[in-house]
Amino acid sequence: MSDLVTTVNPADVIASSDAKDTVSGCHAGADTMKKAAAEAGKSEILEQYAKDYPTGPHDQPQSMCPAFGSLRVGLRMRRTATVLCGSACCVYGLTFTSHFYGARRTVGYVPFDSETLVTGKLFEDLREATYKLADPEKYDAIVLINLCVPTASGVPLDLLPKEINGVRIVGIDVPGFGVPTHAEAKDILAGAMLSYARSEAEQGPVARPDAKSVGRPTVALVGEIFPVDAIMIGRMLEPMGLAAGPIVPTREWRELYAALASPIAAMLHPFYKATAREFTSAGRSLVGSAPVGHDGTAAWLKAIAQSAGVKDEVLAKTSNALLPAIKGALASAPIDARITLSGYEGSELLVARLLVEAGADLRYVGTACPRTPWSDDDRDWLEAKGVQVNYRASLEDDIAAVEEFQPDLAVGTTPVVQHAKEQGIPGLYFTNLISARPLMGPAGPGSLAQVINTAVGNKERFARMESFFNGVGAGEKAGIWPSASGRAA
Ligand code: SF4
Repeated sequence: MSDLVTTVNPADVIASSDAKDTVSGCHAGADTMKKAAAEAGKSEILEQYAKDYPTGPHDQPQSMCPAFGSLRVGLRMRRTATVLCGSACCVYGLTFTSHFYGARRTVGYVPFDSETLVTGKLFEDLREATYKLADPEKYDAIVLINLCVPTASGVPLDLLPKEINGVRIVGIDVPGFGVPTHAEAKDILAGAMLSYARSEAEQGPVARPDAKSVGRPTVALVGEIFPVDAIMIGRMLEPMGLAAGPIVPTREWRELYAALASPIAAMLHPFYKATAREFTSAGRSLVGSAPVGHDGTAAWLKAIAQSAGVKDEVLAKTSNALLPAIKGALASAPIDARITLSGYEGSELLVARLLVEAGADLRYVGTACPRTPWSDDDRDWLEAKGVQVNYRASLEDDIAAVEEFQPDLAVGTTPVVQHAKEQGIPGLYFTNLISARPLMGPAGPGSLAQVINTAVGNKERFARMESFFNGVGAGEKAGIWPSASGRAA
C-alpha cells in the first residue's frame, strides 16, 4: 500500500486524519448536503440515484451507513483494492463494520482536512494514491468510494484515469443523502463495474469467463444469495438445458463478462436498478422473483422458460420432477407460529413467501428497499394471502407491526428484535440468521423451519425473563435520576 492509501484500523484513522468537515456528515441534513453536492457539480448523479432509489416514506438511513454496501461488494472481489474517501469517523465505522462481517481485505483510505478539501489537493492526493496502488501484478481493479463530505464537496472521481497500468479505475459517489440503504449501495458498485465491463466487451475481445456452464445458456443470478442457492438453482435449470451463471455482485472481474453474456438475468434481489439497466443495455432479458417454495418455484421456472424459449413439455417435465419434492420438504418442516418480518437486505418478500407456504401465520413484511417491478409477483402473492407488505418501511412501521400483531416471533433488524425481546417476544435478526441461509428450491423449507421453530420454542423462556427483569432499564430502574430524590421525572 502507498503512503496515502493506508491499511485502516480504528486507531490509525483517528491518528491520521484531522478532517474538519466544511460540510458535516450525517447530521447536516439531507437537503443541505444535496444542495452542496448539486452546487459542486454532482446533480446528474444525484438525479440518477433519485430515479433508481426513490425515497419515501422512509428516506433516511435508519440502519448502517449506506456506503457499507459498496464497500462490502468491493472487499469481496478478488484482486480488487477498495479505497474510501470520507470523514475519519465515517471510515472508522465502515472499517469496523466490514471487519465485523469478516472482510479479510485491506480497506484503503485517503484522508483529508479542510484545506485539502477546499483547495482541491484532496483530488491530487487521490490521484497520486491511485497511481501508487495500480500494480497489475496485484490488482485487476481499484474501486474508489466518495462518502458524504467528498460527494457534497464535488470531489470529481470521474476525472481519474479509467485505467492505469492495465488496472481498471472505478470511482463512485455513495452519499448517505442520496442512497437510502446499504442494499442499494451494492447496486451502485455492481452497476458501475458491469458498465465498465460492458464497454470493454464492446471495444474488443475480453478475458474468457471461467465457464462452468458446459456450453449451456446461463442465467445470471442478481443478488447476494447463499452459495448453496446458486448450486440449487443450477440443478433446477439443468433439465431445461440452462445453467446458473455468475452471482452478481461478482467475486472477480472476469465474471462480469460471463454475467453480461448470460441471455437472462434473474433479479433474485429486486432492488438492483443500475445492474438491471446494464443487463438491459446488453440486450438481456430480466426475470423477477425467485424459486422459493412451491408456488414461487413454479412461477419462476415458467418465467425463465418463457424468456429462454424452453418448450412447454420440457418445462412441464422439469416442474413435475421438482415441485413434489418442494411440497414434501414444506410438509416435513412445518411452521406453526404468528410472525412479523422486516429487514433491509431486499430478500424479505422471498423469505415471507417461504414462511407462508410452510404454514406460518405471517401478518406483516416490511422492507427498507423500494418497490420495483421484480418483486411485484411476490407482493401480489403475499397480499392475496392477507399479508401486509410495506416497502421503504421505517423502524417505526416495523415496531408498530410487532405491537399490533403480538407475534410469537419477530424477525427483523436489531432495534426491532430488541423491542420484541423487551416484551418477552422471541426475536431473530434477519441479516445474520435468516438472509444468510439457503432459501431456494427443496433446500429452503427445512433450512428456514429449523431456525424459526427453535426461536419460537424459546417463547416461554422469554416470558419468564421478561417477568424476572420486569421494568429493569426503564424509568426509576434506568440508573439515571434527574432529581436528588432519585425519582424519575
Ligand atoms: S458516509 Fe455514512 S456515516 Fe458518513 S456522514 Fe455519510 S451516511 Fe453518515
